[in-house]
Amino acid sequence: MSSELFYQSITSLAAQLAAKKLTAVELTQAVIARTKAVDSRVQAFNSYDEADALAQAAASDSRRAAGQARGPLDGIPIGLKDVIAVAGQPLTASSKMLANFVSPYDATVTRKLKEQAGAVVWGRLNCDEFAMGSSNENSAFRPVRNPWDLTRVPGGSSGGSAAALAAGEAIATLGSDTGGSIRQPAALCGTVGLKPTYGLISRYGLIAFASSLDQIGPFARTVEDAALVLGAIAGHDPLDSTSFQAPVPDYRSELAAKKGPWKLGIPKEYFAEGLDPEIGAAVEAAIAFYKKQGCEIKEVSLPNTQSCLDTYYIIATAEASSNLARYDGIRYGHRSKSATDAIDIYAKSRAEGFGAEVKRRIILGTYVLSSGYYDAYYLRAQKVRTLIRQDFLHAYKEVDALLTPTSPIPAFKLGEKSDPLALYLCDIYTIGVNLAGLPAMSVPCGFTKSGLPIGLQLIGQPFQEANLLAIARSYEQAHDWHNQHPSL
Ligand code: GLN
Repeated sequence: MSSELFYQSITSLAAQLAAKKLTAVELTQAVIARTKAVDSRVQAFNSYDEADALAQAAASDSRRAAGQARGPLDGIPIGLKDVIAVAGQPLTASSKMLANFVSPYDATVTRKLKEQAGAVVWGRLNCDEFAMGSSNENSAFRPVRNPWDLTRVPGGSSGGSAAALAAGEAIATLGSDTGGSIRQPAALCGTVGLKPTYGLISRYGLIAFASSLDQIGPFARTVEDAALVLGAIAGHDPLDSTSFQAPVPDYRSELAAKKGPWKLGIPKEYFAEGLDPEIGAAVEAAIAFYKKQGCEIKEVSLPNTQSCLDTYYIIATAEASSNLARYDGIRYGHRSKSATDAIDIYAKSRAEGFGAEVKRRIILGTYVLSSGYYDAYYLRAQKVRTLIRQDFLHAYKEVDALLTPTSPIPAFKLGEKSDPLALYLCDIYTIGVNLAGLPAMSVPCGFTKSGLPIGLQLIGQPFQEANLLAIARSYEQAHDWHNQHPSL
């Protein structure tokens, strides 16, 4: 474990805070200093407010001095993807459309982190515009760079959340995952990333991309840290009607209790053409590890895998075209200065405010919903979505969880993939999970010969995050990948 404060885990820092060997202000200062030292190269932050973070940290220290510390996250700096609202702070979705927007309220996850857990909410992290992308190059402001190799992408769309954590600019971060946007950047930056079951976490205050797919989730240095953050943000919220009504387990203590061995499925469709051989070998080694631990390994089939990409790009774009209709230059965001009447305000504001990928999605989504095409595309995609979910539920009759690579390729060079389709293929192993509403995570499982991180994806059963975390933890405890850091 690194001795640098900014590279330590929440559990380690929480112990030092509890023992009064460290203050939240000292920790926050270390994270701020690290951010100032490296972020001109990493470009993970869209904005941050030092004074505000230090004030939150000072409040945490006063609580602790009064014997009122709120638990392991109290005083821990946690960065948020710039699609999650923080009252009084900018909220841009990395879009020109919202470049000057300040959020009037906190998202539910923000409120829970601040008020219930006592965390220091630290900065707003760069991402692909409106969370659409797999490389962070769609940010309207600047791309994020991968801390392991600054000439490469960090993945996306939550690239800033992954890169900031990997670079020591936060102790944990939150991202959002609609088709892989937490797991894929976690894999490319060598962090843990968890996309919870649809409905586990409130999306109130999350800028909507595709509402039947979007979930918020944590990036963390260790599986246990991810369990802690998950526990702090999960649970029913009357402000999000899709949030599930069920008690939130204590994920950390469940981690200790669940020991396996588990039955693990290997979906054969996920090991086909297009998988980088070094990633394939790292994932095979992880499978061999589980086998040695006494887990039963079974090949399973998810026959509709080949339809996932098409289905996703119909449903996600349809929902995006509807969600993004609100950016009309009147109620929210950018308003064109050259517009002359109401229709002109809509047209010009949207033309000027949205980037190329966002426009592409709106056009695609409007097309698949238009009369005459609705049945042929949107309705059919909904039916295929049901088949995709059934594939997973069928596999879960035989196994507890699935093991796959997270991304078919390691971090690629900035600018290397200019064809949108080539970028859409980055999500080939992650989008089925969103269509099926399942929980899944990426954990570090090695490095390529050129030193780029590799991620192992574990896919769990609905609302069985505790099992999923325990399976991931058993791998992490026997490996040292998560303790390695980029030299910046
Ligand atoms: N890369 C996918 C897309 O561009 C997923 C994005 C996400 O999960 N937010 O839509």
